[in-house]
Amino acid sequence: MTSLRNVVVLGATGSIGVSTLDVIARHPDRFRVLALTAHRQIDRLFDQIIAFVPRFAVVDEAPAARQLAERLERAGSATVVMHGAKSLEAVAAHADADTVMAAIVGIAGLRPALAAVTAGKQVLLANKEALVTAGPLFMEAVRRCGATLIPIDSEHNAIFQSLPAGYGGDLEAAGVRRILLTASGGPFREWPLEKLADVTPEQACAHPNWVMGRKISVDSATMMNKGLEIIEASWLFNAAEHRIEVVIHPESVIHSLVEYVDGSVIAQLGNPDMRTPIAHALGFPQRIDAGVSYLDLVKTGRLNFLAPDERRFPCLRLAREALRAGGCASALLNAANEVAVAAFLNLQMRFDQIPQLLEGVLASIGNMPLRDLADVFEADARARQSATRWLSQHATSGPAAPSRLTA
Ligand code: NAD
Ligand code: MG
Repeated sequence: MTSLRNVVVLGATGSIGVSTLDVIARHPDRFRVLALTAHRQIDRLFDQIIAFVPRFAVVDEAPAARQLAERLERAGSATVVMHGAKSLEAVAAHADADTVMAAIVGIAGLRPALAAVTAGKQVLLANKEALVTAGPLFMEAVRRCGATLIPIDSEHNAIFQSLPAGYGGDLEAAGVRRILLTASGGPFREWPLEKLADVTPEQACAHPNWVMGRKISVDSATMMNKGLEIIEASWLFNAAEHRIEVVIHPESVIHSLVEYVDGSVIAQLGNPDMRTPIAHALGFPQRIDAGVSYLDLVKTGRLNFLAPDERRFPCLRLAREALRAGGCASALLNAANEVAVAAFLNLQMRFDQIPQLLEGVLASIGNMPLRDLADVFEADARARQSATRWLSQHATSGPAAPSRLTA
């Protein structure tokens, strides 16, 4: 009984949230759900509350919270329903919470993840945008508040597993030469460049190996996801930009690698299923069942590797430039990218215009110093304004798609 951990799942209704609950459901003797949060998918949240009986649930707005509370009362549930950003922070930092899964998408996940860190929790970080926008503040809070940070992003979880146990943030001391991030290259790795103008949201979200939320799926198709992951890795592992290499590996079986000075390369492999890094982090330092099918190397047969093509994927270069620039450059890039991806998904602009918008925004706003969270949100707001202006001036509607979907 003493080892029963109270888990808060921020972003429970999303792809990572659902996979997290799948793993938790396999271990009722280890985990109890303290709180579940969702933005708008109230029906799914209702079902999760009935199944996992959390003490708290958090949704976006008051009317939705009221409706959900009434439905729950009729169903005999005692879960307390709250709403709004402050409530997300409150459950993330709750005195009874042991582990917090930070799986909200976008910069919306920053404050709640930081609240969990500041409260000294074990934080399982899926929300890469928190590190991209506020990396130095976030990592400083982890150290100052004694939080335990375990990456969920499959590449970073693989690197975490491939570094020496207890790695303390000094690559040199650990004998590490390079970090190698693998990337599938997304669905358009081999498309003729001129066809990228015709890409639909459905095509962009049909990732060859992973089933994910729509925002990260589009990021994978532009390879901005890998760009954000370079920035994420830099903060997580205290690695300079030139120490982080990207390798295209279309099979997504090797999740990332660490190269040591003696020539050894240590990697983590497995089927592409996010329940593996989630179970690794939930059970850490023990290993627990994830419900994932085991890797059949003979059936896989062949693993391929290629260098990334920066002409096809300019977002990779933009992310490296932002990381090198420091200050709020990565927060500017992230905010412009959030606007660009939403506009593409809403058929307001073409897929190939995403990097054009990013270049336009970055050229129009100068970098700003990053001293505190206010700077991050100021940069975020400026980049969103600039991106919206860019859209009104340059965007041409995307191709007709079968359905108009919102994120
Ligand atoms: P998703 O879109 O499937 O789910 C996002 C979740 O966040 C949902 O529960 C949604 O209700 C909630 N949410 C959205 N906007 C919100 C807001 N403004 N305020 C509060 N809650 C909000 O996304 P996902 O694919 O599960 O990704 C979640 C995070 O994990 C992202 O940062 C993503 O980059 C990262 N990640 C995901 C995967 C994956 O396989 N899906 C892999 C690696 C990293
Ligand atoms: Mg990843």
